[in-house]
Amino acid sequence: MRVDCEGCAGCCIDWRPVSPVTLDHERRGPRAPLDDTYNLVPLTRDEVREFVDAGLGDVLTPRLWEAEPGEGIEIDGIEVASISGKPAFFVGLRKPPKPVAPFGIERTWLHACVFLDPETLQCRIHETDLYPDECAEYPGHNLVLDQEAECERVERAYGGERLLDDTPPADQQGLLLGPHALGAKLFVHPDPERLDGVVKRIRTRELTAADRAEFVGVAVGSHPGSTEVDDERAREARERTLEADSWAGRAFDTWTEAVTALGNVAADAPNPADVEVARGAPETPGWDAIRKDS
Ligand code: SF4
Ligand code: SF4
Repeated sequence: MRVDCEGCAGCCIDWRPVSPVTLDHERRGPRAPLDDTYNLVPLTRDEVREFVDAGLGDVLTPRLWEAEPGEGIEIDGIEVASISGKPAFFVGLRKPPKPVAPFGIERTWLHACVFLDPETLQCRIHETDLYPDECAEYPGHNLVLDQEAECERVERAYGGERLLDDTPPADQQGLLLGPHALGAKLFVHPDPERLDGVVKRIRTRELTAADRAEFVGVAVGSHPGSTEVDDERAREARERTLEADSWAGRAFDTWTEAVTALGNVAADAPNPADVEVARGAPETPGWDAIRKDS
């Protein structure tokens, strides 16, 4: 597997507003996500805990799915996918609107991963302990499962060659499927009554910090291979998530206040160096440095 990511970031950005074709690969079939995030990066339990430990719990957000009538559990009048009668969820990274210029387009307001440097379109946590397996291996899972990769969607829409070698990688750390995912990447909330109103707010992008922390806590308190949750570990992680006040969380709020409309030209957007780097975001090397090293 080999990819050309320079000037792309297609898998880190919600580029639906500038796509000439409909992008709905996450929302086909009976279990559509309740949120509208594009290409959510699902984190493992250990990764969720590491983000919390690093004071970055405020960048995490849950994903739940719709279920067919009678097949899930009803919360806020919505049938939610469940395991053993309890709502199932992932935890992923939040995507604020950012001024980005992928695929040679003008700087445009698009939802982008909280860790994406909007100027270089490189990941601010690449080559750090926090870099998620899912990102490190992308698009490896797609190649193993013979599913279209984001690189190929970008090629189709904007031309060029992104996926340079589509040989599926042999070793996939993050490919947790079926029972292996339970408690390790796919979590189960033990008490649906605590989720009144939350499911509705997921739909309307109005989740509160307390809502997000509730799911982060349960994920950290989960046991791999089981639906059990350690209450004490969950409580501690929930509280630390609520206390988090990271550069990324604060940048999220600034970008959200600055955006005009998604898909709009972002010529007058604030300077990313002021919004992110000045608050403590790690800088990225730029593509010249990458080319020199390779
Ligand atoms: S979509 Fe493919 S080519 Fe583009 S940044 Fe992601 S992995 Fe790289
Ligand atoms: S963590 Fe980095 S590689 Fe992964 S989606 Fe976010 S910016 Fe992209």
